[in-house]
Amino acid sequence: SDIPTLADLYSSGEVVAGDGEVKYNHDEVLNKRVSIWRGDITKLKADMIVNAANSSLLGGGGVDGAIHRAAGPELLDECKGLGGAETGETKVTRGYELPSKYVAHTVGPIYSSKHKEKCQNQLQSCYESSLNLCKKYDGGVIGFSSISTGVYGYPIKDATEIAIKTTRKFLENDQSVTRVIYVVFSKKDEEVYKSVIPNYFPPP
Ligand code: ADP
Repeated sequence: SDIPTLADLYSSGEVVAGDGEVKYNHDEVLNKRVSIWRGDITKLKADMIVNAANSSLLGGGGVDGAIHRAAGPELLDECKGLGGAETGETKVTRGYELPSKYVAHTVGPIYSSKHKEKCQNQLQSCYESSLNLCKKYDGGVIGFSSISTGVYGYPIKDATEIAIKTTRKFLENDQSVTRVIYVVFSKKDEEVYKSVIPNYFPPP
């Protein structure tokens, strides 16, 4: 299989981040197809970034608000034509003033421990549908925000497991998505991603 292992750690990478400038920081590169980058997703230059939207797809707080502010008003104009989305569903727009070409607006579940299994399935669907849409829009580099783990309250460790597991499965069957970048906002979230990734991209 072409799935990299941790043997590829610090190997290669054209991680492009920060005002369209090419940055290469070994700490951000895990292997040839999966990276963690701590920063503001609106500064990331990727082919597609994934927004943690709400079901109206008309903007909101957190990363959604940041993406709308950075993309400019044309993003909202396009979103108005999408007719919202269900939880677990994803719809694509252009990126407008963002450095990234496309935005996948995915609706994560509002976490409830009573409906844990349903939440798991919905979050998995967010990652699957976003990755499938990236493939449909010619693949390349996709940057994910940490869906549902802010205001929507999904426990970070559980959400990260789903993110990485779903990505691993997708990459095994696809070559068009060349790199997945997990964009984390806090040092704590970064540590969680770093601890979970080796479980799915194991050392040789
Ligand atoms: P949700 O409602 O799906 O929980 P939030 O926007 O509240 O979405 O949070 C999702 C994640 O995005 C959180 O980890 C939050 O810290 C992070 N986040 C907020 N702003 C940004 C940003 N500009 N870039 C990247 N991540 C961000």
